[in-house]
Amino acid sequence: MAVPPFPTEKSTGRYLDLANPGLAELTPYQPGKPIGEVQRELGISRVIKLASNENPLGPSPKALAAVRAATNSDLALYPEGAAPTLRAALSDFHDVNPERITITDGSDQAVQLLASAYLRSGLNAVISRHTFSAYSIMIVAAGGEVRAAPALSPSHNTQPYGHDVDAMLSLVDKNTRLLFIANPANPTGTCIDERSLLRLLRAVPSHVLVVLDEAYYEFVEWRDYPDGIRISRDFENLIVTRTFSKAYGLAGFRVGYALSNSVVADVLNRIRLPFNVGTLAQIAATAALKDSEHVRRTVELNRVGRQQLQAGLARLDLSFIPSVTNFVTVDTGRDANVVFESLLRKGVIVRPLIPYELPRHIRISVGAPDQNQIALAALEAALNE
Ligand SMILES: *Cc1c(COP(=O)(O)O)cnc(C)c1O
Repeated sequence: MAVPPFPTEKSTGRYLDLANPGLAELTPYQPGKPIGEVQRELGISRVIKLASNENPLGPSPKALAAVRAATNSDLALYPEGAAPTLRAALSDFHDVNPERITITDGSDQAVQLLASAYLRSGLNAVISRHTFSAYSIMIVAAGGEVRAAPALSPSHNTQPYGHDVDAMLSLVDKNTRLLFIANPANPTGTCIDERSLLRLLRAVPSHVLVVLDEAYYEFVEWRDYPDGIRISRDFENLIVTRTFSKAYGLAGFRVGYALSNSVVADVLNRIRLPFNVGTLAQIAATAALKDSEHVRRTVELNRVGRQQLQAGLARLDLSFIPSVTNFVTVDTGRDANVVFESLLRKGVIVRPLIPYELPRHIRISVGAPDQNQIALAALEAALNE
């Protein structure tokens, strides 16, 4: 017999009222549906997940070998809290002082640490509409106000629904502490060019920390795409976040980092949990960083797969946002949830973008060629239902 829910009485909703302001209105982050859940719910065995922009090649083989070689004594002891080995490896890799690097439990945690360190009631953070929902969750959780700037027009020729730097700037005031730019942006797959980024950085007052989320940095092959880490040498209020979850294929390990000025890094270090990144995650990331060949193969497979997906979508007469990264966002021309559910029944998990104010769009991660083929065929069938 199923265990009854607890608490059972409606009156205990007061624990929601007792929570900090804003939390009652917050919608929890909706992750991509896990494969196992779809298999159980729908009783189908062949399920592919193209919903969370994970790496179809999997983790770097070098990372896996390093994890397998971890010894018992590595694991009975607490990890090194500040992840010195990984920080040293990143310091070499990016040619930056290790004191500027904060290792986090996925780069999401860098957003959380920044929000709790720099926001409170009365202060605000600027984001773009249709952007990664973790930002607003963390801003509200810290007591701050979310200021969402209108995005570029859907008919913009290179960045439909992308970040509008000027609209974002116009929302900045004396109470703004953070401004988030995802570059490339998720779920739109657009990105801003170096000139726009520099214009923003020159215009923004120094009490605003600009957080440049470069979770998909490795995938972008566009000439005008800015390297935030290089640019951060010239702007002390620029913070760059990167992750091992995407091109490095380590999403299950949860490891990312923030690169900031050393004072911000010190602030983040004061409030992070003492052991925020596990030993195996540190070992995997340190080894993965040295496997440039795996990243190269990942980017190549993605380039081909993205072309395959985009060509297939064009054949289906579907409009999509041209992507610079490892997913493609498609206007299905109908209720995205209906298409999402239909694809699920065909064993293909994608992401409906209704929570991102894109009610007809779905986001499809670029998979291996056979997965892309299956997704396109399923989409064609779904649209003909
Ligand atoms: C996937 C993603 C991340 C990475 O999150 P992790 O916590 O590092 O797994 C960060 N920002 C954006 C915009 C993303 O899409």
